[in-house]
Amino acid sequence: MNNMIELSDVSYSYEGTPALKNITLRIEKGESVALMGMNGSGKSTLLKLINGILFPDSGTYRFAGEKITHKKMQDPLFSKRFHQKIGFVFQNADTQLFCADVYDEIAFGPRQMGLDEDETEKRVEDCLSLLSIEALRHRQPYHLSGGEKRKVAIASVLSLNPEVLVFDEPLLGLDPRTQRWFVSFLMKLHEAGKTLLVSTHNLEMVQEMAERAVLFDESHTIAADRPAGELLKDVDLLIRTNLVDEYYHHHPGAGHQHFHIHPF
Ligand code: ADP
Ligand code: MG
Repeated sequence: MNNMIELSDVSYSYEGTPALKNITLRIEKGESVALMGMNGSGKSTLLKLINGILFPDSGTYRFAGEKITHKKMQDPLFSKRFHQKIGFVFQNADTQLFCADVYDEIAFGPRQMGLDEDETEKRVEDCLSLLSIEALRHRQPYHLSGGEKRKVAIASVLSLNPEVLVFDEPLLGLDPRTQRWFVSFLMKLHEAGKTLLVSTHNLEMVQEMAERAVLFDESHTIAADRPAGELLKDVDLLIRTNLVDEYYHHHPGAGHQHFHIHPF
């Protein structure tokens, strides 16, 4: 079974405000997929749906072949098993971090899974070192900088060792060096065989880390789903979907092959 994520004709509205319309999307094990589209196009809604936080109004969502429904997710055992296989790093780390210290934050998932303290400690130490945040071990998440919080949030998801990792706008609020670090970190996860789904406005990151790009348009549908390198060269499409402005058309020197990290 290579099919990790499978949405068939999924639509979702927030009390009358459409956010997703007739989305059909399939992501296989080991793929790295960038989710692109202007603000309000539905990226976060799609990621919440994929992570079992929202449920389709119509259409179906299957994860590893299993239909995901509100009813099933209310079963603690089912929900626990699901969250062991797919990890979600929220756009805002503050909504994700709730423990009094970094160690407990990262240990939370493994303890929930019922791992003993020795195994939990091993997982926490591995994650601290993977993210080079050993020094933050006993800090309060609440007092950390934005970039540090993001790393702790990532560690708290990785400590469950999920097969699929989902990131919502992971570069937002990071300084340029941390952005670079993050892009190479994603590439390492991909090489390790993880399935990655990352929403972003950052075309340079898409170019580096994604094999495939899914692009939403303003009407909350998928405008394109193509190999990332190919999609990034389609300047007309990028202009039409408001990811780059006309500037690139009128300044040959700007070169659409080279995107710059946008200041946030
Ligand atoms: P993106 O992540 O691409 O910016 P979202 O998924 O956040 O897009 O939003 C899609 C649409 O749904 C937008 O029109 C947005 O205003 C609306 N929306 C998002 N969250 C809510 C919410 N909690 N309540 C009402 N409308 C929402
Ligand atoms: Mg969003």
